[in-house]
Amino acid sequence: MQFDLKNLFLRDLDWLMAVEIVIRTLIMFVLILVFLRLTGKKGIRQLSIFEVAIIIGLGSAVGDPMVNEDQAILPAFVVIVTILLFYRLLTWLTARRERFERLLEGEPLYIIEEGKFVLQAHSDHTYAKDEFFAEMRQQNIEHVGQVRTAILETSGNVSFYYYADEDVKPGLPILPKVYQNRQKEIHQPGAYACTACGQVEEINTAQHVCPRCHQQEWVEAIQTLRKT
Ligand SMILES: [Zn+2]
Repeated sequence: MQFDLKNLFLRDLDWLMAVEIVIRTLIMFVLILVFLRLTGKKGIRQLSIFEVAIIIGLGSAVGDPMVNEDQAILPAFVVIVTILLFYRLLTWLTARRERFERLLEGEPLYIIEEGKFVLQAHSDHTYAKDEFFAEMRQQNIEHVGQVRTAILETSGNVSFYYYADEDVKPGLPILPKVYQNRQKEIHQPGAYACTACGQVEEINTAQHVCPRCHQQEWVEAIQTLRKT
């Protein structure tokens, strides 16, 4: 077999076919716009898992007729209408049945309570700590003790509720450089935060096991206030 540039880029594309692709693309694009308007969503900043699934399904249905001359446009139109009706039905159901909503979109998840990470041992929820730390830094949070409650919403966004300045507790620092200074052996007595769960302990022995989560990696706790 020989590598053929013409085959790679053009195959049997001629001018007539190119014009047809332009027309097909325009029609499908208008269909997508109409579809998105009809879903009733205002924007796509917050997509639930369910909506992402719809978009993936839609992508294939509308993408193929754009470039593939063997594919008629009407079947794609049927697919779009079907998905739209299904979407409307499901959103109608989720608005009425809370259990249905939980099934489809998941539940908001407590991540921080009272300046500590909620222990997720008996739950099947997973979230990436690094990603969550980055999210916290974008909110100007320097350590976990500034946060009274953090909730991971089903949209993937995190809602933060803060302590008032006078109530800020010593907490686990989340700035990368400080966090990297974590240690298993304590050389200087003081307040340390558990890197796994955020529990703060006064430690004056070389080794100390976290009474809350049984890890033993510590980093010096800080008590800075939040700059807004
Ligand atoms: Zn711990």
